Amino acid sequence: MDLIYAEATPPGRGGVSIIRISGNGSRAVAERLVGPMPEARHAYLRMIQDDSGLVDQALVLWFANEQSFTGDETVELHLHGAPVIVRRVGHMLAEQGVRLAEAGEFTRRAFINGRMDLSEIEGLGDLLAAETESQRRLALRTSSGELSRMAEKWRSLLIRAGALVESSVDFADEDVPDEVPAEVFDLLDQFHTELQKQISGYAAAERIRNGFEVAIIGPPNAGKSSLLNRIARRDVAIVSDIAGTTRDIIELRIDLKGLAVSFLDTAGLRTAGDSLEEIGIERARQRASGADLRIHLSPTGVIDTSLWQPDDLAVQSKTDQGPFRPGLGVSSLTGEGLEELLETIYSVFSVRSANAAVISHDRQVNALTEAKSAVNVSADMPAELIAESIRQAAVSLDRLVGKIGAEDYLDVIFSSFCIGK
Ligand code: GDP
Repeated sequence: MDLIYAEATPPGRGGVSIIRISGNGSRAVAERLVGPMPEARHAYLRMIQDDSGLVDQALVLWFANEQSFTGDETVELHLHGAPVIVRRVGHMLAEQGVRLAEAGEFTRRAFINGRMDLSEIEGLGDLLAAETESQRRLALRTSSGELSRMAEKWRSLLIRAGALVESSVDFADEDVPDEVPAEVFDLLDQFHTELQKQISGYAAAERIRNGFEVAIIGPPNAGKSSLLNRIARRDVAIVSDIAGTTRDIIELRIDLKGLAVSFLDTAGLRTAGDSLEEIGIERARQRASGADLRIHLSPTGVIDTSLWQPDDLAVQSKTDQGPFRPGLGVSSLTGEGLEELLETIYSVFSVRSANAAVISHDRQVNALTEAKSAVNVSADMPAELIAESIRQAAVSLDRLVGKIGAEDYLDVIFSSFCIGK
Protein backbone atom coordinates (compact mmCIF):
# COMPACT_ATOMS: atom_id res chain seq x y z
CA MET A 1 0.00 0.00 0.00
CA ASP A 2 1.31 3.44 -0.87
CA LEU A 3 2.14 6.04 1.73
CA ILE A 4 -0.54 8.53 2.70
CA TYR A 5 -0.58 11.53 5.00
CA ALA A 6 -3.20 13.90 6.39
CA GLU A 7 -3.66 16.44 9.11
CA ALA A 8 -5.32 14.58 11.98
CA THR A 9 -6.25 17.74 13.88
CA PRO A 10 -8.78 20.27 12.54
CA PRO A 11 -7.26 22.66 10.01
CA GLY A 12 -6.42 26.14 11.28
CA ARG A 13 -4.48 27.64 14.14
CA GLY A 14 -4.15 25.78 17.41
CA GLY A 15 -1.75 24.65 20.07
CA VAL A 16 -0.63 21.66 18.06
CA SER A 17 -1.29 20.33 14.55
CA ILE A 18 -0.77 16.64 14.04
CA ILE A 19 0.14 15.14 10.70
CA ARG A 20 -0.22 11.40 10.41
CA ILE A 21 1.68 9.37 7.84
CA SER A 22 0.67 5.77 7.23
CA GLY A 23 1.96 2.92 5.11
CA ASN A 24 4.99 0.74 5.36
CA GLY A 25 8.07 2.87 5.04
CA SER A 26 6.56 5.89 6.76
CA ARG A 27 9.16 5.69 9.52
CA ALA A 28 11.96 5.88 6.95
CA VAL A 29 10.28 8.89 5.34
CA ALA A 30 10.00 10.65 8.69
CA GLU A 31 13.59 9.85 9.59
CA ARG A 32 14.75 11.59 6.40
CA LEU A 33 13.01 14.71 7.76
CA VAL A 34 13.93 14.51 11.45
CA GLY A 35 16.78 12.04 11.89
CA PRO A 36 16.76 8.60 13.54
CA MET A 37 13.96 7.48 15.88
CA PRO A 38 15.16 4.16 17.27
CA GLU A 39 12.19 3.08 19.34
CA ALA A 40 8.52 2.75 18.46
CA ARG A 41 5.96 4.51 20.67
CA HIS A 42 8.58 6.90 22.06
CA ALA A 43 8.21 10.63 21.64
CA TYR A 44 11.24 12.41 20.19
CA LEU A 45 11.68 16.17 20.21
CA ARG A 46 13.18 16.88 16.79
CA MET A 47 14.03 19.63 14.34
CA ILE A 48 12.34 19.31 10.98
CA GLN A 49 14.80 20.57 8.38
CA ASP A 50 14.72 21.07 4.67
CA ASP A 51 17.34 22.45 2.29
CA SER A 52 16.55 26.00 3.29
CA GLY A 53 16.95 25.30 7.00
CA LEU A 54 14.69 24.82 10.04
CA VAL A 55 10.97 24.31 9.32
CA ASP A 56 9.67 23.56 12.80
CA GLN A 57 10.50 21.91 16.07
CA ALA A 58 8.19 18.95 16.56
CA LEU A 59 7.37 15.99 18.74
CA VAL A 60 7.63 12.88 16.61
CA LEU A 61 6.69 9.25 17.23
CA TRP A 62 6.13 6.12 15.20
CA PHE A 63 4.08 2.94 15.57
CA ALA A 64 4.93 -0.46 14.14
CA ASN A 65 2.35 -2.29 12.00
CA GLU A 66 0.50 -4.09 14.74
CA GLN A 67 0.45 -1.11 17.08
CA SER A 68 -1.17 1.46 14.86
CA PHE A 69 -4.76 2.45 14.11
CA THR A 70 -4.43 1.51 10.43
CA GLY A 71 -2.44 -1.65 11.02
CA ASP A 72 0.36 -0.25 8.83
CA GLU A 73 3.50 1.49 10.05
CA THR A 74 2.44 4.98 11.12
CA VAL A 75 4.18 8.20 12.10
CA GLU A 76 2.79 11.20 13.95
CA LEU A 77 4.35 14.62 13.62
CA HIS A 78 3.12 16.98 16.35
CA LEU A 79 3.83 20.38 14.85
CA HIS A 80 3.18 23.88 16.08
CA GLY A 81 -0.44 24.61 15.19
CA ALA A 82 -0.04 26.96 12.25
CA PRO A 83 -1.42 26.29 8.77
CA VAL A 84 1.79 27.50 7.13
CA ILE A 85 3.84 24.83 8.94
CA VAL A 86 1.36 22.09 8.04
CA ARG A 87 1.47 23.18 4.39
CA ARG A 88 5.24 23.26 4.33
CA VAL A 89 5.60 19.80 5.90
CA GLY A 90 2.90 18.52 3.51
CA HIS A 91 5.08 19.69 0.58
CA MET A 92 8.09 17.94 2.06
CA LEU A 93 6.13 14.71 2.34
CA ALA A 94 4.78 15.02 -1.19
CA GLU A 95 8.36 15.38 -2.42
CA GLN A 96 9.07 12.04 -0.74
CA GLY A 97 6.23 10.41 -2.67
CA VAL A 98 3.69 10.49 0.15
CA ARG A 99 0.23 11.47 -1.07
CA LEU A 100 -2.61 13.26 0.69
CA ALA A 101 -5.15 10.76 2.04
CA GLU A 102 -8.76 10.67 0.94
CA ALA A 103 -11.65 11.08 3.40
CA GLY A 104 -11.81 8.00 5.62
CA GLU A 105 -8.75 6.40 4.04
CA PHE A 106 -6.96 5.73 7.34
CA THR A 107 -10.05 3.89 8.57
CA ARG A 108 -10.42 2.04 5.27
CA ARG A 109 -6.88 0.73 5.75
CA ALA A 110 -7.75 -0.33 9.29
CA PHE A 111 -10.62 -2.32 7.77
CA ILE A 112 -8.47 -3.88 5.04
CA ASN A 113 -5.87 -4.86 7.63
CA GLY A 114 -8.53 -6.47 9.82
CA ARG A 115 -8.11 -3.95 12.64
CA MET A 116 -11.79 -2.96 12.51
CA ASP A 117 -14.89 -4.59 11.11
CA LEU A 118 -17.79 -2.88 9.35
CA SER A 119 -19.92 -2.49 12.49
CA GLU A 120 -17.02 -0.87 14.34
CA ILE A 121 -16.51 1.55 11.45
CA GLU A 122 -20.21 2.45 11.53
CA GLY A 123 -19.84 3.02 15.26
CA LEU A 124 -16.80 5.22 14.69
CA GLY A 125 -18.75 7.26 12.11
CA ASP A 126 -21.56 7.67 14.64
CA LEU A 127 -19.10 8.63 17.36
CA LEU A 128 -17.59 11.37 15.19
CA ALA A 129 -21.10 12.66 14.48
CA ALA A 130 -22.39 12.31 18.06
CA GLU A 131 -23.96 15.46 19.53
CA THR A 132 -25.51 14.15 22.72
CA GLU A 133 -24.46 11.91 25.59
CA SER A 134 -26.78 9.07 24.60
CA GLN A 135 -25.46 9.15 21.02
CA ARG A 136 -21.90 9.11 22.32
CA ARG A 137 -22.58 6.16 24.62
CA LEU A 138 -24.32 4.14 21.90
CA ALA A 139 -21.63 4.88 19.32
CA LEU A 140 -18.87 3.98 21.74
CA ARG A 141 -20.44 0.57 22.29
CA THR A 142 -20.34 -0.33 18.59
CA SER A 143 -17.06 1.41 17.80
CA SER A 144 -15.36 -0.45 20.62
CA GLY A 145 -16.53 -3.78 19.22
CA GLU A 146 -19.54 -4.77 21.31
CA LEU A 147 -21.54 -5.87 18.28
CA SER A 148 -18.49 -7.62 16.83
CA ARG A 149 -18.08 -9.61 20.05
CA MET A 150 -21.78 -10.54 19.99
CA ALA A 151 -21.46 -11.66 16.37
CA GLU A 152 -18.47 -13.79 17.36
CA LYS A 153 -20.48 -15.45 20.11
CA TRP A 154 -23.44 -16.06 17.77
CA ARG A 155 -21.06 -17.53 15.21
CA SER A 156 -19.72 -19.99 17.78
CA LEU A 157 -23.29 -21.16 18.48
CA LEU A 158 -23.75 -21.79 14.76
CA ILE A 159 -20.41 -23.58 14.44
CA ARG A 160 -21.27 -25.91 17.30
CA ALA A 161 -24.78 -26.56 15.94
CA GLY A 162 -23.42 -27.09 12.41
CA ALA A 163 -20.80 -29.57 13.62
CA LEU A 164 -23.44 -31.54 15.56
CA VAL A 165 -25.70 -31.72 12.50
CA GLU A 166 -22.85 -32.81 10.22
CA SER A 167 -21.80 -35.55 12.62
CA SER A 168 -25.38 -36.87 12.77
CA VAL A 169 -25.56 -37.38 9.00
CA ASP A 170 -24.97 -40.98 8.07
CA PHE A 171 -23.77 -40.81 4.50
CA ALA A 172 -23.54 -44.59 4.20
CA ASP A 173 -27.20 -45.24 4.84
CA GLU A 174 -29.43 -42.98 2.79
CA ASP A 175 -32.67 -44.80 3.59
CA VAL A 176 -32.69 -44.15 7.32
CA PRO A 177 -33.51 -40.52 8.25
CA ASP A 178 -30.72 -38.95 10.32
CA GLU A 179 -31.44 -38.12 13.93
CA VAL A 180 -30.43 -34.51 14.62
CA PRO A 181 -29.39 -34.18 18.28
CA ALA A 182 -31.68 -32.09 20.49
CA GLU A 183 -28.74 -29.86 21.44
CA VAL A 184 -28.80 -28.44 17.91
CA PHE A 185 -32.28 -27.05 18.49
CA ASP A 186 -31.29 -25.68 21.89
CA LEU A 187 -28.34 -23.87 20.32
CA LEU A 188 -30.45 -22.49 17.49
CA ASP A 189 -33.13 -21.42 19.99
CA GLN A 190 -30.53 -19.48 21.94
CA PHE A 191 -29.27 -17.93 18.68
CA HIS A 192 -32.82 -16.99 17.72
CA THR A 193 -33.62 -15.47 21.12
CA GLU A 194 -30.45 -13.38 21.30
CA LEU A 195 -30.91 -12.02 17.80
CA GLN A 196 -34.56 -11.27 18.48
CA LYS A 197 -33.56 -9.25 21.55
CA GLN A 198 -31.35 -7.04 19.39
CA ILE A 199 -33.98 -6.73 16.67
CA SER A 200 -36.62 -5.69 19.24
CA GLY A 201 -34.35 -2.99 20.63
CA TYR A 202 -33.39 -1.68 17.19
CA ALA A 203 -36.10 0.99 16.89
CA ALA A 204 -35.09 2.62 20.18
CA ALA A 205 -31.38 2.55 19.32
CA GLU A 206 -32.06 4.02 15.91
CA ARG A 207 -33.98 6.87 17.57
CA ILE A 208 -31.12 7.49 19.98
CA ARG A 209 -28.78 7.68 17.00
CA ASN A 210 -30.96 9.83 14.74
CA GLY A 211 -32.93 11.70 17.39
CA PHE A 212 -36.55 11.50 18.56
CA GLU A 213 -39.16 13.68 16.87
CA VAL A 214 -41.86 15.66 18.65
CA ALA A 215 -44.51 17.33 16.49
CA ILE A 216 -46.22 20.38 17.94
CA ILE A 217 -49.72 20.36 16.50
CA GLY A 218 -52.90 22.28 17.08
CA PRO A 219 -55.19 24.84 15.50
CA PRO A 220 -53.84 28.10 14.07
CA ASN A 221 -52.88 30.62 16.74
CA ALA A 222 -52.69 27.89 19.38
CA GLY A 223 -49.18 29.13 20.12
CA LYS A 224 -47.14 26.43 18.35
CA SER A 225 -44.46 28.72 16.92
CA SER A 226 -44.24 30.63 20.18
CA LEU A 227 -43.68 27.37 22.05
CA LEU A 228 -40.95 26.35 19.65
CA ASN A 229 -39.29 29.71 20.11
CA ARG A 230 -39.54 29.41 23.85
CA ILE A 231 -37.88 25.98 23.69
CA ALA A 232 -35.16 27.35 21.47
CA ARG A 233 -34.88 30.52 23.54
CA ARG A 234 -34.24 32.19 20.23
CA ASP A 235 -36.23 32.97 17.12
CA VAL A 236 -36.42 29.94 14.88
CA ALA A 237 -40.05 30.18 13.77
CA ILE A 238 -42.10 33.12 12.61
CA VAL A 239 -44.62 34.16 15.22
CA SER A 240 -47.51 36.26 13.99
CA ASP A 241 -51.19 36.94 14.57
CA ILE A 242 -52.14 36.10 10.99
CA ALA A 243 -53.47 32.55 10.92
CA GLY A 244 -51.61 30.25 8.53
CA THR A 245 -48.18 31.91 8.76
CA THR A 246 -46.29 28.69 9.40
CA ARG A 247 -46.73 27.07 6.03
CA ASP A 248 -43.79 24.77 6.15
CA ILE A 249 -42.40 22.56 8.83
CA ILE A 250 -39.77 24.16 11.01
CA GLU A 251 -37.48 21.88 12.91
CA LEU A 252 -35.57 22.57 16.09
CA ARG A 253 -33.10 20.03 17.39
CA ILE A 254 -32.10 20.14 21.02
CA ASP A 255 -30.12 18.09 23.48
CA LEU A 256 -32.77 17.09 26.02
CA LYS A 257 -30.82 15.81 29.02
CA GLY A 258 -28.59 13.74 26.75
CA LEU A 259 -31.20 12.70 24.20
CA ALA A 260 -31.31 14.26 20.73
CA VAL A 261 -34.85 15.54 20.23
CA SER A 262 -36.25 17.44 17.25
CA PHE A 263 -39.31 19.60 17.73
CA LEU A 264 -41.39 20.17 14.63
CA ASP A 265 -43.58 23.22 14.27
CA THR A 266 -46.25 22.20 11.82
CA ALA A 267 -48.66 24.25 9.76
CA GLY A 268 -51.86 25.02 11.64
CA LEU A 269 -54.25 22.11 11.27
CA ARG A 270 -57.34 23.85 9.91
CA THR A 271 -59.23 24.19 6.66
CA ALA A 272 -56.84 25.63 4.13
CA GLY A 273 -57.20 29.20 2.86
CA ASP A 274 -55.39 28.47 -0.40
CA SER A 275 -53.84 25.52 -2.21
CA LEU A 276 -50.33 26.31 -1.02
CA GLU A 277 -51.52 26.20 2.53
CA GLU A 278 -53.35 22.97 1.79
CA ILE A 279 -50.05 21.35 0.83
CA GLY A 280 -48.53 22.62 4.05
CA ILE A 281 -51.37 21.19 6.10
CA GLU A 282 -51.21 17.79 4.45
CA ARG A 283 -47.45 17.64 4.91
CA ALA A 284 -47.89 18.64 8.53
CA ARG A 285 -50.42 15.86 9.14
CA GLN A 286 -48.15 13.24 7.62
CA ARG A 287 -45.08 14.41 9.46
CA ALA A 288 -47.02 14.69 12.71
CA SER A 289 -48.34 11.14 12.36
CA GLY A 290 -44.87 9.79 11.76
CA ALA A 291 -43.27 11.61 14.70
CA ASP A 292 -42.42 9.75 17.91
CA LEU A 293 -44.68 11.97 20.01
CA ARG A 294 -47.19 14.77 19.49
CA ILE A 295 -47.87 17.79 21.65
CA HIS A 296 -51.52 18.63 21.04
CA LEU A 297 -51.51 22.32 21.83
CA SER A 298 -54.67 24.27 22.36
CA PRO A 299 -55.68 27.26 24.52
CA THR A 300 -59.19 25.84 24.93
CA GLY A 301 -58.50 22.14 25.35
CA VAL A 302 -60.11 21.21 22.02
CA ILE A 303 -57.79 18.85 20.14
CA ASP A 304 -57.83 16.94 16.85
CA THR A 305 -58.29 13.40 18.12
CA SER A 306 -57.71 11.89 14.66
CA LEU A 307 -53.97 12.39 15.18
CA TRP A 308 -53.88 11.09 18.76
CA GLN A 309 -51.50 8.21 19.52
CA PRO A 310 -50.50 6.52 22.80
CA ASP A 311 -48.19 8.61 25.06
CA ASP A 312 -49.23 11.82 23.25
CA LEU A 313 -49.50 14.96 25.36
CA ALA A 314 -52.49 17.28 25.47
CA VAL A 315 -51.11 20.66 26.50
CA GLN A 316 -53.01 23.83 27.26
CA SER A 317 -51.32 26.88 25.78
CA LYS A 318 -51.31 30.51 26.93
CA THR A 319 -51.85 29.59 30.58
CA ASP A 320 -50.96 33.17 31.53
CA GLN A 321 -54.35 34.12 30.11
CA GLY A 322 -56.14 31.51 32.31
CA PRO A 323 -58.33 29.88 33.39
CA PHE A 324 -55.94 27.02 33.97
CA ARG A 325 -57.30 23.50 33.56
CA PRO A 326 -55.77 20.43 35.24
CA GLY A 327 -53.05 18.63 33.29
CA LEU A 328 -50.10 19.97 31.34
CA GLY A 329 -50.09 23.64 30.49
CA VAL A 330 -47.54 26.09 29.21
CA SER A 331 -47.15 29.80 28.76
CA SER A 332 -44.69 30.77 26.08
CA LEU A 333 -44.95 34.33 27.32
CA THR A 334 -43.74 33.67 30.87
CA GLY A 335 -42.13 30.25 30.43
CA GLU A 336 -44.43 28.77 33.07
CA GLY A 337 -44.92 25.01 32.67
CA LEU A 338 -42.13 24.62 30.13
CA GLU A 339 -39.75 22.67 32.37
CA GLU A 340 -42.51 20.25 33.38
CA LEU A 341 -43.42 19.73 29.73
CA LEU A 342 -39.82 19.01 28.74
CA GLU A 343 -39.42 16.70 31.74
CA THR A 344 -42.54 14.76 30.68
CA ILE A 345 -41.23 14.41 27.12
CA TYR A 346 -37.87 13.27 28.45
CA SER A 347 -39.44 10.58 30.63
CA VAL A 348 -41.49 9.20 27.71
CA PHE A 349 -38.34 8.88 25.60
CA SER A 350 -36.13 7.58 28.35
CA VAL A 351 -38.62 4.76 28.98
CA ARG A 352 -38.55 3.96 25.26
CA SER A 353 -34.74 4.07 25.25
CA ALA A 354 -34.39 1.68 28.16
CA ASN A 355 -34.33 -1.45 26.00
CA ALA A 356 -32.25 -0.02 23.18
CA ALA A 357 -30.16 -2.52 21.28
CA VAL A 358 -26.58 -2.09 20.14
CA ILE A 359 -27.69 -2.26 16.52
CA SER A 360 -28.88 1.10 15.24
CA HIS A 361 -28.45 0.92 11.46
CA ASP A 362 -30.84 -0.45 8.85
CA ARG A 363 -28.08 -2.56 7.40
CA GLN A 364 -27.45 -4.21 10.75
CA VAL A 365 -31.07 -5.01 11.52
CA ASN A 366 -31.50 -6.43 8.00
CA ALA A 367 -28.53 -8.76 8.41
CA LEU A 368 -29.79 -9.94 11.80
CA THR A 369 -33.35 -10.44 10.54
CA GLU A 370 -31.97 -12.54 7.69
CA ALA A 371 -29.84 -14.60 10.06
CA LYS A 372 -32.75 -15.11 12.42
CA SER A 373 -35.16 -16.24 9.70
CA ALA A 374 -32.54 -18.61 8.29
CA VAL A 375 -32.61 -20.73 11.43
CA ASN A 376 -36.37 -21.25 11.47
CA VAL A 377 -35.91 -25.02 11.54
CA SER A 378 -37.80 -27.90 13.12
CA ALA A 379 -36.95 -31.45 14.14
CA ASP A 380 -38.89 -32.97 11.25
CA MET A 381 -36.67 -31.30 8.63
CA PRO A 382 -33.95 -33.34 6.92
CA ALA A 383 -30.50 -32.88 8.46
CA GLU A 384 -29.06 -31.55 5.17
CA LEU A 385 -31.64 -28.76 5.13
CA ILE A 386 -30.86 -27.84 8.74
CA ALA A 387 -27.15 -27.77 7.92
CA GLU A 388 -27.85 -25.48 4.96
CA SER A 389 -29.96 -23.13 7.12
CA ILE A 390 -27.11 -22.85 9.59
CA ARG A 391 -24.71 -22.00 6.75
CA GLN A 392 -27.12 -19.31 5.52
CA ALA A 393 -27.31 -17.77 9.00
CA ALA A 394 -23.50 -17.71 9.15
CA VAL A 395 -23.40 -15.86 5.81
CA SER A 396 -25.77 -13.22 7.20
CA LEU A 397 -23.50 -12.80 10.22
CA ASP A 398 -20.57 -12.31 7.84
CA ARG A 399 -22.58 -9.57 6.19
CA LEU A 400 -23.24 -7.97 9.58
CA VAL A 401 -19.55 -7.50 10.32
CA GLY A 402 -18.64 -6.83 6.70
CA LYS A 403 -16.71 -10.02 5.96
CA ILE A 404 -18.77 -9.99 2.78
CA GLY A 405 -20.53 -7.16 0.98
CA ALA A 406 -18.71 -4.36 2.82
CA GLU A 407 -17.61 -2.43 -0.25
CA ASP A 408 -21.13 -1.17 -1.00
CA TYR A 409 -21.31 0.46 2.40
CA LEU A 410 -17.79 1.70 2.98
CA ASP A 411 -17.98 4.44 0.35
CA VAL A 412 -21.21 5.73 1.84
CA ILE A 413 -19.86 5.67 5.38
CA PHE A 414 -16.56 7.31 4.46
CA SER A 415 -18.26 10.07 2.52
CA SER A 416 -19.17 11.56 5.92
CA PHE A 417 -15.66 11.11 7.34
CA CYS A 418 -13.08 13.84 7.16
CA ILE A 419 -9.66 13.66 5.58
CA GLY A 420 -7.34 12.45 8.30
CA LYS A 421 -9.73 9.89 9.79
P1 GDP B 1 -49.40 29.18 15.97
O1 GDP B 1 -50.23 29.62 14.83
O2 GDP B 1 -50.01 28.03 16.69
O3 GDP B 1 -47.97 28.91 15.61
O4 GDP B 1 -49.41 30.38 17.04
P2 GDP B 1 -48.33 31.52 17.32
O5 GDP B 1 -47.20 30.97 18.09
O6 GDP B 1 -48.04 32.23 16.03
O7 GDP B 1 -49.14 32.44 18.31
C1 GDP B 1 -50.34 33.06 17.95
C2 GDP B 1 -50.58 34.29 18.82
O8 GDP B 1 -50.69 33.90 20.19
C3 GDP B 1 -49.41 35.29 18.79
O9 GDP B 1 -49.94 36.59 18.85
C4 GDP B 1 -48.64 34.99 20.05
O10 GDP B 1 -47.93 36.10 20.52
C5 GDP B 1 -49.74 34.58 20.98
N1 GDP B 1 -49.24 33.65 22.00
C6 GDP B 1 -48.59 32.48 21.79
N2 GDP B 1 -48.30 31.89 22.94
C7 GDP B 1 -48.74 32.68 23.92
C8 GDP B 1 -48.73 32.60 25.37
O11 GDP B 1 -48.23 31.65 25.99
N3 GDP B 1 -49.32 33.61 26.04
C9 GDP B 1 -49.90 34.68 25.41
N4 GDP B 1 -50.44 35.60 26.16
N5 GDP B 1 -49.93 34.78 24.07
C10 GDP B 1 -49.36 33.81 23.32
